Amino acid sequence: MEIIKLGGSVITNKEKPMTPNLNSIFRLSREISSAKPKELIIIHGGGSFGHPLAKEYLISEGYVQKKQLIGYSLTHQSMVKLNTIIVEALLDSGVPAVSVAPSSFITTTKKRITQIDISIILNYLKMGMIPVLYGDTILDSEMGFTILSGDQLAVRLAIELKANRLIFGVDVDGVYSTNPKIDNKAEFFNEFSLSQLNNNQISGSSETDVTGGMLGKIMEAENAVKTGINVVLLNALKVGLIYQVLKGESVKGTILRR
Ligand code: ADP
Repeated sequence: MEIIKLGGSVITNKEKPMTPNLNSIFRLSREISSAKPKELIIIHGGGSFGHPLAKEYLISEGYVQKKQLIGYSLTHQSMVKLNTIIVEALLDSGVPAVSVAPSSFITTTKKRITQIDISIILNYLKMGMIPVLYGDTILDSEMGFTILSGDQLAVRLAIELKANRLIFGVDVDGVYSTNPKIDNKAEFFNEFSLSQLNNNQISGSSETDVTGGMLGKIMEAENAVKTGINVVLLNALKVGLIYQVLKGESVKGTILRR
């Protein structure tokens, strides 16, 4: 069983609110279809759909005032819209994709998943379907509500379901010493370990992202690495990489180590 997390930077245009990157959504759907995966879960981020609304209504800070309720709903609905675009693209390519809303079977406590019923996901996998989930608004036992990142969700599902591999598709080749988009001297890591993270060998994270950017992603992913899951980050904007990695071919990317 494998899990692919497609970053908001891959499936949306992060600079333009509510703008899907349709080229990349349709291409990735075809790549996933051609790879004929046996057991796969797809999780996608929010990019320019979820994040601007979540930020405007301070959803990740929890419930403080009534007018946030509309914001919670608007944020959730914008993710549903993006999810619909992605699921329909997968269906067009012949992938038996099925949308599953994380907020309907998960709750958090202080932003961390504490309650999750994986039986629905397991049963869909058994049936041969491909569940498609996303970073979502979520009920939180301490905060009222918050945002559950697609990254935390992907890692938790990988651990719960004992995935063989967790693949993060982002808009850069993998992990660098600094943000490669603003620093052309950024050094690329074929492999990256928790000790390098502890030694602060990387810096920088994306600003519009309410859930943490690259640093947050690696810190989250390390939880899966620690349990022995193969975790790889690669550039899903590069044509063919997702197909190749699903086929078991070696591609440019960063493998996370303990
Ligand atoms: P997602 O697509 O999942 O939303 P993020 O935007 O949160 O991904 O994180 C990916 C971004 O992190 C990249 O676009 C890159 O510009 C930025 N980034 C910041 N620091 C680094 C780093 N050290 N190595 C790689 N990418 C980095």
